[in-house]
Amino acid sequence: MSTLITNVGELVTNAPPDVGPGSDGAGGFASISAAALVMEAGRVAWIGPASRAPAADHIVDARGRAVLPGFVDSHAHLVFAGERGEEFAARMAGAPYRAGGIASTVTATRKATDPELRAGLRRLVAEMLRQGTTTFECKSGYGLTVADEARSVSLAAEVTAEVTFLGAHIVPPEFDGDTAGYIDLVCGPMLDACAPLSRWVDVFCERGAFDADEATAVLRAGQAQGLAPRVHANQLGPGPGVQVAVQAGAASADHCTHLTSDDVDALAGSSTVATLLPGVEFSTRQPYPDARRLLEAGVTVALATDCNPGSCFTSSMALCVALAVREMHMTTREAVWSATAGGARALRRADVGHLDVGARADIVMLDGPSHSYLAYRPGVPLVAAVWRDAELAWGSTG
Ligand SMILES: [Zn+2]
Repeated sequence: MSTLITNVGELVTNAPPDVGPGSDGAGGFASISAAALVMEAGRVAWIGPASRAPAADHIVDARGRAVLPGFVDSHAHLVFAGERGEEFAARMAGAPYRAGGIASTVTATRKATDPELRAGLRRLVAEMLRQGTTTFECKSGYGLTVADEARSVSLAAEVTAEVTFLGAHIVPPEFDGDTAGYIDLVCGPMLDACAPLSRWVDVFCERGAFDADEATAVLRAGQAQGLAPRVHANQLGPGPGVQVAVQAGAASADHCTHLTSDDVDALAGSSTVATLLPGVEFSTRQPYPDARRLLEAGVTVALATDCNPGSCFTSSMALCVALAVREMHMTTREAVWSATAGGARALRRADVGHLDVGARADIVMLDGPSHSYLAYRPGVPLVAAVWRDAELAWGSTG
């Protein structure tokens, strides 16, 4: 069955700027006004002006509203138990954020049953879908035993293909003072248990977590088992994370809040995406990363939520777009590109993040005429309908 969405006020394609009349390419962002789109068999089958739209089995009248690729959230920690609302409140009252807060979520996660973890995970996945996220990455990292990490990646694999093994999130309390012993566990039995269900290996390379040598050892061990690397880098202060990521050929260095000129140059000369997570700076009241410096150096920038119970408990890509525009001086086009096509680059996915013919028909219709409404109307639930694989997955088309 084919579906035509017509009378689209603005169709964001992120396609090359030569697609269709009136298309407008800026930094990879592209859109067509007064447009239409046909989807069939899970894919985009046709895009062009509404005046030339072909027939279809089912017709949706967008009535001038904007249609975008579904958001690609390339960084999220969704398998956990408990919550840390009091820690957030204390932080807003002046207490500092420290990586050690992760340990309280580890304790709660270990105690939780599989059905409890699955219910929490599915609630967050549904929440993301309602907000227009159609592709997302999901990390382990709150189990930190072989059994608890294995069940974390197993639960994540129930809801996404983008599963990341993050055994090297922090050193758990039972390995206090024995980081080398914990790295041996992560690179040995824990990786053996998690690799079959994971696509990615990640490490928190930060003071208070893992240093450059430890991080490199984890990434190499993961790569030896067929996993592709990504790195939590330079969040809390300057450090080796970005260099470790680039040297490992990581798909993404995430956070990138505290960068030297060498870090920026290394990213610019690599295929490693800088994934910025402005919800974290919002929720920890820290300075935002310098997105303009990265963009002007030619670095590919993605935006993601980092949804987790400690440093940033939002699942809203629209909030990240609004923060990127207001606080990081990204243009609305740059921010929407980074939240869609940029996220796809950070996951090395060619089938999502854009709406060319042949792309996966993962599509969001906004209650607004332009992508800019995501930043112009912050905090407002603007997602009217979401299609995944050409099927209406949430919302209504009326
Ligand atoms: Zn994270």
